[in-house]
Amino acid sequence: MCGIVGYIGHRDAYPIILNGLQRLEYRGYDSAGIALYDGTDIKLSKTKGKVSDLKSKLENEISTEGTLGIGHTRWATHGVPNDVNSHPHYSNSGDLVIIHNGIIENYESLKKELTKRGYTFKSDTDTEVLINLIEDVKKNDDTKLGKAVQVALNQVVGAYAIAVFDKTKPNEIVVARLGSPLAIGIGEDEFFIASDASPFIEYTKNAIYLEDGEMAIVRRHKDIKVRKIKGDAIVDPYVQELKLNLEQIEKGGYEHFMLKEIYEQPSAILDTFRGRLLSKEAIIKMSGVEDNMKKFLNADRIIIVACGTSWHAGLVAEYIFEDLARIPVEVEYASEFRYRNPVITEKDMVIAISQSGETADTLAAIKLAKSKGAFVFGVCNVVGSSIARETDAGAYTHAGPEIGVASTKAFTTQITVLTLMALRLARAKGTISSSDFRMHLLELEMIPQKVEEALKSDSYVQTIADIYKDSKNFLYLGRGYNFPVALEGALKLKEISYIHAEGYPAAEMKHGPIALIDEQMPVVVIATKKGHYDKVVSNIQEIKARKGKIIGIVTKGDESVKALADFVIEVPETLESLSPLLTTIPLQLLSYYIAVYLGKNVDQPRNLAKSVTVE
Ligand code: GLU
Repeated sequence: MCGIVGYIGHRDAYPIILNGLQRLEYRGYDSAGIALYDGTDIKLSKTKGKVSDLKSKLENEISTEGTLGIGHTRWATHGVPNDVNSHPHYSNSGDLVIIHNGIIENYESLKKELTKRGYTFKSDTDTEVLINLIEDVKKNDDTKLGKAVQVALNQVVGAYAIAVFDKTKPNEIVVARLGSPLAIGIGEDEFFIASDASPFIEYTKNAIYLEDGEMAIVRRHKDIKVRKIKGDAIVDPYVQELKLNLEQIEKGGYEHFMLKEIYEQPSAILDTFRGRLLSKEAIIKMSGVEDNMKKFLNADRIIIVACGTSWHAGLVAEYIFEDLARIPVEVEYASEFRYRNPVITEKDMVIAISQSGETADTLAAIKLAKSKGAFVFGVCNVVGSSIARETDAGAYTHAGPEIGVASTKAFTTQITVLTLMALRLARAKGTISSSDFRMHLLELEMIPQKVEEALKSDSYVQTIADIYKDSKNFLYLGRGYNFPVALEGALKLKEISYIHAEGYPAAEMKHGPIALIDEQMPVVVIATKKGHYDKVVSNIQEIKARKGKIIGIVTKGDESVKALADFVIEVPETLESLSPLLTTIPLQLLSYYIAVYLGKNVDQPRNLAKSVTVE
């Protein structure tokens, strides 16, 4: 995920692009760059860091003249954030230049082909492969840029929003979209291109939002031609009148980043398994696991170290690694692990989980484990972060930047990565049959769609939130795979609404927390059909007998819990091992709406920070 901006018209492009990038920085901010056409040549400047770093570098490096240009604020997926990997990227001839938001999944095979044909690559990005593929098509087929982009994109697997221009034909920008957003602002004899409308809202209120699978040629002094990327169909674009203000646009029309991120989960999970889960071939491809398969298979045990929400994702992973891959797992708070002189040997495999990749305690735990000879595998979201650098191997979650302090999409994408790992190892160890493996892949592939369905509980959850918002305490219960989800649900509520909440394994309730239950106490119980269902239903009976208020999270079509509970929220049916990806959705919404109704600062709750870089 990143932000892209482009301009072609009669004004100076530079201030529009720079300002636009600043507004899009919420989409990614590890590096930035701008390419301008000054009337004779392309002037390009880029750097690791924020848009403000780019500004000072660029203004010393190049002239800022030109009425055509493109700019990018990066959130790395392929190659660490550094100057060279920053966008824009040139083609080998230096004629073409590109900015790209997304992932080209088959970039390795394309790169091999292009290398055979003499192309060279300066960066580690998938994007530089794409611009050279476009150049190659353009040269071989002797076609215009628009046609070359179209032919090249038909060879590409992945997700993209791109903008490309050619210095030998500096009167047009070619843009395309599949899976990443792209808006075109239409002014008086000028056009704006951006990931959302925020960069051009003060210049025009008229915009075209390209649909997936569409591309456009945006021509100076002329019109815009929109067409399908596949086939020959021309599209008559729908010009929309923008009604949102700047802040609303940055948040994608949502009131808070947290809500936006909750709603991004279907696409974030898809991005996590993009290129890794190949259900047709019935394989999982994860280079970090593949390259170290022997170590994983020979490990005596896996130790997972993490903090906060990531620790909860680690607990879910414990169930799935043990259940499917039959590898013993221990899950540790990084802050405890690092100080308690743990027994670690060279036969231990440590998995460190952190959204930011900068969590101080997790970093210290990694260093400790490495010093004892253990192999350390990182699971984080931010490419090139300290944890990504400190670990021996790893897998990124590719969730895109998470701005809301209370983690949502980071949690579900961490679980997705860990599930892929567990399945891959189970296959290698032979602890899962091929039919079971295939079934898991097919089910996992359907999760984004099922998350979408789970999100439909939104307005019903609002009603429940309104009823219970003034409660002083909440209890969250779950069993098996959904015990960590109960912990996570309670943590979300504490973090943003400041209501005291506790998560427990449902059966533990009798050993203490049941004493808390009275008619004032809402109890959120996760009772999915396949997860020790009858036992959980008995626990619900026990709560009801003590007049507790029951909010059940149940599988679609459930009748028994419905008969007992005050409210039930349905989630679609799936395998029990994948159910945390669905049951967590209504809990995120519940905490969000309670906090909103209480008037709390949802995106920046008191006393908390997004990434805990101190111990
Ligand atoms: N895959 C590209 C890269 O890593 C683009 C990432 C983005 O969307 O920022 O450079």
